[in-house]
Amino acid sequence: MSEVLERIWQFQQISRVELVEHTGLTSGTITNLTHELIGLKIIREFEAVSGNVGRRRVMLGLDSSLYRIIGLDIGRATLEVVVVDLNGKIIKSIERDMSERRGPDEYFDVIGPLLTETKREIENAGYTVLGLGTSVPGPMDYSTGELLNPPNFPGWSGFPLQRTLEERFGMVTLIEDDARTSAMAERWYGLGRNVQDLVFITMGIGIGGGVVSGGKIVRGTNGLCGQVGHMTIVIDGKICDCGNRGCWETVGSIPGILGRWSGGGSMEQLREAIRQGDAEALRCLEDTLGYLETALINVYNLYDPELVVLGGRLYPYLADYLLPVRNHLRSRLYAFAKDRLRIEPSTFGTSQSAVGAAALLFGFLLSEPVRLLALAEGG
Ligand SMILES: [Zn+2]
Repeated sequence: MSEVLERIWQFQQISRVELVEHTGLTSGTITNLTHELIGLKIIREFEAVSGNVGRRRVMLGLDSSLYRIIGLDIGRATLEVVVVDLNGKIIKSIERDMSERRGPDEYFDVIGPLLTETKREIENAGYTVLGLGTSVPGPMDYSTGELLNPPNFPGWSGFPLQRTLEERFGMVTLIEDDARTSAMAERWYGLGRNVQDLVFITMGIGIGGGVVSGGKIVRGTNGLCGQVGHMTIVIDGKICDCGNRGCWETVGSIPGILGRWSGGGSMEQLREAIRQGDAEALRCLEDTLGYLETALINVYNLYDPELVVLGGRLYPYLADYLLPVRNHLRSRLYAFAKDRLRIEPSTFGTSQSAVGAAALLFGFLLSEPVRLLALAEGG
């Protein structure tokens, strides 16, 4: 069933005959499985007019009429809740400023009413909530659902987030590090529909990465896979929160960039100084792009991704320089790989990790639809 569902997601609209071709299953099996999925309201039939002869064909696609998924992004400065349908369309998005709040208690004063109200609203409108995906500033312990001492996030170390959310709101709850949820947003709802190997890089206050390999998220032994912000870029550079020296994050994140700019001020002020041709600002920009290129070359040589997606609050300030960065990379990459170099901006902008949190549940639905529906109805 999972294989059939995954093909329907991938193609967005596909006929039963095409499903037989793509899965190798018999037409009888496809008939039974699609009948069952239609009964569960996960997929639906619709008529499409095909080609120049105008013949009508019955196609299958995901059904958005019954299920909703809630995504929660717990960030250091903001909190976001999104509601999406099975096609990843954002139905609703609410953001709250959390810069004055510290620790789980103060966060839950905001999360509590927000989630209760969102869930009630969805149910009152006749929809079923499949579950709650949550993204956190990693790292975390995947066996217990606890946060592991995230930098610049006091009071959260060892907090049993998954259990607390599950008990309090009665929804199936999945948790993941925010760079990985961002990667999953692309994988399931964005540019990754036909891409098996992608790296998502989020650049802001910190720099994080999420690696999708063979269509699956990769965590590594300690959940550190894809921590691209902590690759060493400056030998003997500044000490980083992680314990290493000269990490990309120490020179390439927003605080890292502003710390190198002798002019002082915000990213907006730096952009203005660059526009006016200020020599110090231009040098700061040149170094920033140099670090970015070096980091990207390392990412390409380590992971060999088909697609690199760039996002985060810093990205808008670098977007204008993506073309020269890409061209420099081409000249530094293996000759046979350089024509396939693909770097794109993220699909969901500032909502990327919240949408990706919801995408965790979507991934669960594609792999085990019957089990998730049973869990969701029991909740
Ligand atoms: Zn580091």
